[in-house]
Amino acid sequence: MNIYCKFCGEPWDLDKLHNLKEHNGDAIPHREALEMFSKYGCNAFTTMRWRCYANPIEDRHVLKYIGNSQTKFRNPKWWMSPDNVMYMFKFFKELS
Ligand SMILES: [Zn+2]
Repeated sequence: MNIYCKFCGEPWDLDKLHNLKEHNGDAIPHREALEMFSKYGCNAFTTMRWRCYANPIEDRHVLKYIGNSQTKFRNPKWWMSPDNVMYMFKFFKELS
């Protein structure tokens, strides 16, 4: 399953968070790794402790929904992907 950086939209394999290590080489608990990802985006995989500033590959509205879902839900299975967001946009367009 992929999770998406809320700042640039880059996809990451959720399993990669299991291998996240701090400077000293200690593995970070999965829950903490998820929090770091939702806070720093791509930079959770680096030693940089500030948010990702990569050029967005997704529309800013899409990124907003991805970010909201990461704030709202702890479980990454509820985090949105660009496909989910586009589907949602299409769905609401058809309803209106
Ligand atoms: Zn990013």
